[in-house]
Amino acid sequence: MSRVKDKKLKKLKKQRIWPYILGIFVILIVFYALATIILSFMIINIVFDNLKQAYDSSNRLTTIVEEMWENEDTEALDAFYADLSEAFPYVGEICIVDSDKNVLYSTGDEVPNWDIAIEDVDIQNVNLYLSEDKDNFIYYDNVDNGFIVNIEKFISVLNEMKTEQYANEELLNTKNVLSSEMWVEIDKGDYSVCYKNTMGISSVEFSITVIVIVVICALEIFLLGYYLFSIVSLVLERRKVSKILETDIVTGGNNLTHFFKIGNLILKKKKTNYAVVIVRLEKYRNFCSCYGLHEGEELLELIYNTLHNALTKNELVAHGEKSDFALLMAYNSEEELRERLTHVISHLRQVRSNQKFIFSVGICKTGDFDINIDSLYNYAGVAIGTLSADAENRVVLFTDDMRKEQIWHRQVENDIDRAIADKEFQVYLQPKYSTKEEQLSGAEALVRWIHPTEGFVAPYRFIPILESTGLIIKLDDFMISEVARLQSEWLSQGKKIVPISVNISRVHFARQDLAEHICSLVDEHNVPHKYIELELTESAFFDDKDVLLNIINKLKSYGFEISMDDFGAGYSSLNSLKELPLDVLKLDAGFFREEDKDGRGKVIIGDTIALAKKLDMRIVAEGIETREQVDLLASMDCDLIQGYYFAKPMPVSDFEERAFVKENTEE
Ligand code: C2E
Ligand code: CA
Ligand code: CA
Repeated sequence: MSRVKDKKLKKLKKQRIWPYILGIFVILIVFYALATIILSFMIINIVFDNLKQAYDSSNRLTTIVEEMWENEDTEALDAFYADLSEAFPYVGEICIVDSDKNVLYSTGDEVPNWDIAIEDVDIQNVNLYLSEDKDNFIYYDNVDNGFIVNIEKFISVLNEMKTEQYANEELLNTKNVLSSEMWVEIDKGDYSVCYKNTMGISSVEFSITVIVIVVICALEIFLLGYYLFSIVSLVLERRKVSKILETDIVTGGNNLTHFFKIGNLILKKKKTNYAVVIVRLEKYRNFCSCYGLHEGEELLELIYNTLHNALTKNELVAHGEKSDFALLMAYNSEEELRERLTHVISHLRQVRSNQKFIFSVGICKTGDFDINIDSLYNYAGVAIGTLSADAENRVVLFTDDMRKEQIWHRQVENDIDRAIADKEFQVYLQPKYSTKEEQLSGAEALVRWIHPTEGFVAPYRFIPILESTGLIIKLDDFMISEVARLQSEWLSQGKKIVPISVNISRVHFARQDLAEHICSLVDEHNVPHKYIELELTESAFFDDKDVLLNIINKLKSYGFEISMDDFGAGYSSLNSLKELPLDVLKLDAGFFREEDKDGRGKVIIGDTIALAKKLDMRIVAEGIETREQVDLLASMDCDLIQGYYFAKPMPVSDFEERAFVKENTEE
């Protein structure tokens, strides 16, 4: 997956929905708490205020009523009530009852209903009207009765009754009315005075309360709406982007992002064994070159669909890199899995009737390794990587050995810098002997790794890894420097030194200034260039010929000798010999490894030597282990011999003994 895609997906994944949901809850709770506090405060305030006023005034009135009743002055009572009923907003009807609740006196038809308890009265269920003329009149209606009260008149009545003086403001405070009624009974011993108490709530306060509630509700609705909209749009956007990011543009099916995401979920709740399988269509580029990219993509789509149809519900397919397909397959036994895959592959081979296809299959079983699907996918790819181009059976299982090799691969990459710095790499020297005089006339520098935990590590275990990662350059530089340092040391000690060849990996030729670079490494030690020989393998010659020729010419002009290593191994090309001005040809050990019954080998060796001679090149035969081989090469005019017959690669101290001690004793 590209970095941009990965970033986008990560960003999207980071956008969590739960903060929005939490936001909604927090806002709801805060607003409800606020609304409750404000409303409770207002209501408590209003109710208490009104109750107090109602109670105070009713109390005074009942005292007056009581006085008149005691004096048996019912006429005065009627007259008082005639004014009072119009004047006082908190007192409705008045009646007096005896201890058996028989009505002794009543100002109207209404009497208390003793069956209704005070708490049963529905305070909320009232009608509200505002007064038209706020300064003078109060108008309220409760149970279909309307009263118009003249405040000035009411005050004068009260004054006449010699009650306390009432201030205008106090009355005005009570003029807007929201009321509810209930009967209040005041026990006087033999009888009770009952009056109908009405409670009022100021309509201004009521309006403010309503406005506050409406504003809070509106805000809440807005915020709720905003959050809900955010959630819905985020979910929709997520789905849309996920869909885009998880869809393969070539096949229209799943891509690896989807495969890893869903695959991990399947593996987490796995009920059976699973294996990650990579099915690779080989030579896809070749197919595209012949039939075009469009046909190629159609073929991939066809393969995708075929694989998709071969899977069951809890299995997964995706198109991976290039012509790879990733599968997550459930299995009971390895045999069953292999059988299924063989069946699918045979089906895939005939996916187009007139064409033949080759598929490689890499399997990594979940039980054996990491549960993480990315790693499993990678391992399946590693398994495919071990298949040679001409392998018969193209279904490989990732094994523990492969995993160890992977780990070793990593370790080599990680350890290289430390190994160079700590001198874990050591130069071994393998002498080259002149064929006729059988004298030590040269040497090849071969690296050995004395690893702190692995011990002695042979080159074949790390050179290919370093070559595949480009890290070989560091090692080659180290070897050149070391050899130059040794030669310089020996020269300063007055030793008679021989040329030493150093292997230069083809990877090095990506450097345009390779010649200058090698020159500077050697010059640091002040060694004449003729004592350093550079061995190139033929594989280097397959790269850009012009660049190579340029570098070789430069190196030669600086005085270095160049040899072609392993000539005759793999696909040797005589063309290279023709085009490149090389100094030395190293005959590959393979020439001498097999028995040469019919003498054909001898002919080839002899003619190759003759050919090289004609091209003015010197010949070194490698891997010479027997006397017969030495004699044969001597008869063929081969110049130098390198092999176990004379000497194995050896540590520097051993080489010094062999090359210089002998030389001293001879003197
Ligand atoms: P090469 O350059 O072809 O080196 C010759 C190899 O053949 C050496 O293996 C040497 O030990 C082995 N050999 C020499 N004589 C005989 C013999 O008579 N019989 C047999 N059976 N083998 C013989 P070694 O040292 O294991 O190196 C293997 C390869 O690793 C080398 O092949 C070379 O390609 C690479 N290599 C070694 N050191 C370096 C280095 O410093 N830099 C680079 N780039 N490659 C290196
Ligand atoms: Ca070599
Ligand atoms: Ca060689």
